[in-house]
Amino acid sequence: MDNVISVLKKNGYKITPQRIAIYNVLKDTKEHPCVDSIYNKLRLVFPTMSLATVYKSLEVFKSLELIQELNVGEGSFRYDANTIRHPHVICLECGKVDDAELGNIDFMEQAEALTGYKIMKQQVYFYGYCPKCRKSHT
Ligand code: ZN
Ligand code: MN
Repeated sequence: MDNVISVLKKNGYKITPQRIAIYNVLKDTKEHPCVDSIYNKLRLVFPTMSLATVYKSLEVFKSLELIQELNVGEGSFRYDANTIRHPHVICLECGKVDDAELGNIDFMEQAEALTGYKIMKQQVYFYGYCPKCRKSHT
């Protein structure tokens, strides 16, 4: 929280209650929400806030590396305030996204040495059926 305020300030961004609330939604959940669900969570508190504000704030947080964006396929994105590289598991049925705590899976240096690319980021996704949905996929 102090971190987000000082990073925003340092980079010349305005500190608005909406912006902080958007960040806090991400900070306080492990659910990796999409833009719509962040918006729906906050629209009662901030009736004048638009979906565009949520998009813009997420872009700002992303560019300052305060959050990470997860591409969960078919043009849909989810957001995570945990910016440390960690793998995710995605439910093919309900779209739930969870962390898959596997310990150290940082392959960026190895990938860079192997390919000669300058590697900028790494995302690892597993796909399957969550505990709730797997009952219908035995
Ligand atoms: Zn599911
Ligand atoms: Mn995560």
